[in-house]
Amino acid sequence: MTLIDSIDSKIYKIKDSVDLFLTDEKYLTAFFMNSRRRKNFLINNEMICLLEKIDGKRKVAQLKELMEKSYGITGESVEKVIGLLLKNKIISEVINSDILEIADLDRFSRQINYFAEFFDDYEKALRAQKKLFDAKVLVFGCGAIGGNIAIELAMAGVRNITIFDFDTVDESDLSRHLYFSKEKLGKNKTQALKEFLESIDKQISVEIINSSLKPADDIENLIQGKDFIVNTLDEPYIGYTSSKISRVCMKYRIPHFIAGGFDAHLSSTGELIIPYVTPCVECYAGYFKESLKNWKPAKHPVAKRMYEIGGTSMQSLFSASYAAIEIVKYITGIVDLKKNFKIRGEFLFKDMELTYLSIKRNPDCPICGRRSV
Ligand SMILES: [Zn+2]
Repeated sequence: MTLIDSIDSKIYKIKDSVDLFLTDEKYLTAFFMNSRRRKNFLINNEMICLLEKIDGKRKVAQLKELMEKSYGITGESVEKVIGLLLKNKIISEVINSDILEIADLDRFSRQINYFAEFFDDYEKALRAQKKLFDAKVLVFGCGAIGGNIAIELAMAGVRNITIFDFDTVDESDLSRHLYFSKEKLGKNKTQALKEFLESIDKQISVEIINSSLKPADDIENLIQGKDFIVNTLDEPYIGYTSSKISRVCMKYRIPHFIAGGFDAHLSSTGELIIPYVTPCVECYAGYFKESLKNWKPAKHPVAKRMYEIGGTSMQSLFSASYAAIEIVKYITGIVDLKKNFKIRGEFLFKDMELTYLSIKRNPDCPICGRRSV
């Protein structure tokens, strides 16, 4: 096959993320939605007609024939214009690939197109979607944050999810959890969430574990073999559960996300932990121990105080979405998070400000420090 033959058999389409306008009848203005970039090209009537005919169905050979017949434009000129449109990322090749099933292509087309913008390659975007289908994710805690992370991952195409929680749905959950309705009151959170996840995607496999996390529990079997772990368990408290879960993740070098939570009127973004790349749970704990040592008295003046930390569904969704974006980026490889990761951020409800803490890996950390590797 010659080079010309191979171009002739290709099919192109105008990228979904590019908006095209005609300015003063002679300029084509391309507006690139993902980057907010805008570019002008000098254009004539024949080029406008060619653009209309690049419809994601016609092969280049057919485009050449049409342009020759209608406007006397040579095949060489058509190729030149196609080359220019490709170089400027206005059109992309339509690839008939068997990486994904047709139904999945329809369902996830917008997401795949979005991924393709980052990879600049449609086939890589298909493989990224496949990675989401194949990833095994375990979510500890089905509360307002853990539950929403599981839902967002299921919507993104994660089809192997294990959820872990001991609690049942109560009245106060209804104002904070998108997926708990009145009919779910009294049900195990894991069962209620499983039903919701299955309603999103028929192909999803959801394993449930109705349990709390106790000090003597062996969770190695649970964590081993998973591709990503999320912890949102706040009982007895998030520091304890994170330390226990993270130690196992570090041992098997499994990336994990310690998600969300509130303190006063802050929403936390949580933190992505990539073993031996980002600061680990112990590095974070060491930082907070040091920076908060004079912050509040060791003993609370009211010994038996019953309270629930306040929060809104919007804050939970913010934290959950933030975590889900990072997890999807990690699993798909859209961004190399090993080189470009974020430390925990805190979002101020009142001022709409997001500030990131400044925490580094501690070289003497007992878990990820020099002597532990
Ligand atoms: Zn560490």
